[in-house]
Amino acid sequence: MPAKKIYFYPDPYLRQTNQSIIEINEDVRELAQDLLDTMNKVSGLGLAAPQVGVNKKMFVMDCSPKRNNSRVFINPTILKTSEETETSEEGCLSFPDQFAEITRPSSCHISYSDLEGHIQEGHFEGLEARCVQHEIDHLNGILFIDHLSKLKKKNLVKKLDKQLLKDHRKSMEPKYSIRRHNEQKN
Ligand SMILES: [Zn+2]
Repeated sequence: MPAKKIYFYPDPYLRQTNQSIIEINEDVRELAQDLLDTMNKVSGLGLAAPQVGVNKKMFVMDCSPKRNNSRVFINPTILKTSEETETSEEGCLSFPDQFAEITRPSSCHISYSDLEGHIQEGHFEGLEARCVQHEIDHLNGILFIDHLSKLKKKNLVKKLDKQLLKDHRKSMEPKYSIRRHNEQKN
């Protein structure tokens, strides 16, 4: 399965409402494979469906050093997060080459459905806890920059715009399109 195009901020897909997955059918299995292929192609730690232009509640993750622990999460919900927090550098495939220090609970407990339609629970710590929270944010239309102050957010978006413009000019045949729209938030 070829890797899908990843949509960059401020593409509207990233802010739209994501639908719960009601039935595990062929389309859902195909979406899972597309997400895995796309994440693995760019060696990402996680990827959520809206990032490939599908507004459904699914994400994939592989935080293992050898990239041999990829998992699919359908309709995930955070049940509990730790009071203890951790601040660490975070990036996002929809914000190429941009990173920021983000504070999040250091562990989390979630429920989700697997690809067989079985409800599972999972406890995550460290990098995986960060990744799970980042991806579930995506499924709620929340982006990592929303955890930053207004000023830091503005600066990061400015840097991203410059980067995308540079990449766009470098490439005779753009690998992506930038769909502009006005974000009213902040
Ligand atoms: Zn992301």
